[in-house]
Amino acid sequence: MAEEGEPVERSAGGRGSGRAYRLSRWTDPVRLLRRAEADPAVDPLIAAHKAFFPKADVRLLRRAYAVAERYHRGQLRKSGASYVTHPLAVAMILAGLGMDTTTLVAALLHDTVEDTELTLGQVHAEFGEEVAVLVDGVTKLDGSKWGERAEAETFRKIILAAADDLRVLVIKLADRVHNLRTLQFHPKPEKRRRIARASLELLVPFAERLGIYVLKREMEDLAFAHLHPVEYERTRAALAGSAADRAARLGQLMGQLRTALEASRLHARVITRDRHLYSLYQDRRTPAISPAAPPRVGEASRITVLVEGEAADCYVALGAIHGLWHPLPGRLKDFIALPKYNMYQSLHTSVVTPCGETLELAIRTPGMHRVAEYGIISQIQDAAKASETQARQAAHRADLQWLRNLLAWQAHAPSAEFLDSLRVDLRSADIVTFTPAGTVVPLPAGATAIDFAYALDPDTGHRAIGAITNGRLSPLTAALDDGQVVEILTAAESGPSEAWLEAARTGHARVHIAQWLADRRTETAGTAGRRMVAEALAARGVNLLDLEGDGTMLALGAELGYPNLETLYAAVAANAVTVETLADHVAPATGPGGTDAEAGEE
Ligand code: MN
Repeated sequence: MAEEGEPVERSAGGRGSGRAYRLSRWTDPVRLLRRAEADPAVDPLIAAHKAFFPKADVRLLRRAYAVAERYHRGQLRKSGASYVTHPLAVAMILAGLGMDTTTLVAALLHDTVEDTELTLGQVHAEFGEEVAVLVDGVTKLDGSKWGERAEAETFRKIILAAADDLRVLVIKLADRVHNLRTLQFHPKPEKRRRIARASLELLVPFAERLGIYVLKREMEDLAFAHLHPVEYERTRAALAGSAADRAARLGQLMGQLRTALEASRLHARVITRDRHLYSLYQDRRTPAISPAAPPRVGEASRITVLVEGEAADCYVALGAIHGLWHPLPGRLKDFIALPKYNMYQSLHTSVVTPCGETLELAIRTPGMHRVAEYGIISQIQDAAKASETQARQAAHRADLQWLRNLLAWQAHAPSAEFLDSLRVDLRSADIVTFTPAGTVVPLPAGATAIDFAYALDPDTGHRAIGAITNGRLSPLTAALDDGQVVEILTAAESGPSEAWLEAARTGHARVHIAQWLADRRTETAGTAGRRMVAEALAARGVNLLDLEGDGTMLALGAELGYPNLETLYAAVAANAVTVETLADHVAPATGPGGTDAEAGEE
């Protein structure tokens, strides 16, 4: 989609001539473009795609590019480049990652429906259902119709579309990456920061959840540069300035590591790279290390041991490493036996060398490595190599717990709160907890037993009164730790309180608690309204219980448009129906004056 900050600029004539084409179906450019000549601008895209899919139908790509080029003609990016360079660049990013043909076609067309005369119906007719669904998924809702709600509802729309086809989110991420790469052309600094911040809060977490770390790292560094330019530059300079010293020392250490791995008869490759700037900067914030300080060798390097073989061989490598250097207690994480929620698998350990340097290492097979870098994309790619239908199936993942949670609570969240709840839901790294039966319950870090209870099901949440965590009784509001076994104690007559809203971290729990409290308020209003009616009737010598018993009140409520007694009494309490109206209906005052006179005063 055309991001905020990338409003489409049109040169004279671009749109007008586009409109003329719609006059007759015989001059419809989409039809004409079926015979489009090969445009060399699309050749690099085709080459990149063929590297992964040698048998791909590249005519589709040529046609999609021709349509995008024709419809965006006359529109410019902020950089001054013609607009079509943007969808082409987005498709290029996706082709480089190895996405399927359908995704690339949709990427080429992703801004046409939003910003040009092309309609979704035309996209559907020319490129089929799947492409239309993907283009629709990333098309922003019209601000002139949706007003302030447009941004939140656009995100809700993307998520709903992603529930059916995750490729929508993948296109959205590539779209944002290119918009961040060209953000410097936006003239307003405040707008640049807003886009950078929104990228960190809403897009980066989705990249992480889908396991697409290559895009996550790039987005983080681009956003970092725009949000904190001074710190960015200091971090970059510190890393570059220490590169030669670190490389020399790292070379010695990796030599020792390779020897140790060979001695264990493993076929393993050690790869190292510098950490990306944003992650180094983030890690230095808590102990407050200056971004300008030269990073130590272990601090700046990502060391990955790629073990040829089975998962079991990774544990052999771990043994070799721990034999070489002292492991740091409590730092071993087994993401092979217990993969992260985003499919990531590796063994993590931290060791200390005889010279006192701390090193962090990740150990995995080449297959795990591919998932660690590309996440869901690696799975869609494998499926697409078999068939287009299988690619579609691989992109529909009903089993992703984070997506299921998101879908469960979003329906109850009003527009105004949706983005805030989403930010909270996406913000933190996840932990894994267990039921006593061993069922895995993934939660965001900082989640409490309340979140756990609602994650089991909303009813368990509402009735929770306490928790047993690793065998010990603990309050519902206590934060849970990674790996804890949690049992929820419930009582039938119990219910959430306002304080639970503070203690709950997940959107799922918060939405259900808020809903329950709102329902309870209706109930309270109903009780107050009923008392008012009972008193008014008693003044006329009538017992409300009799009228409720014989159905009179229910019939009267239905006549006034209230489906049940609770909503009728709530309406009385809210003064939408006066007590006198009700009383007059069911027990007309007999004597002269009296209550009638009182009613007249209102
Ligand atoms: Mn776009």
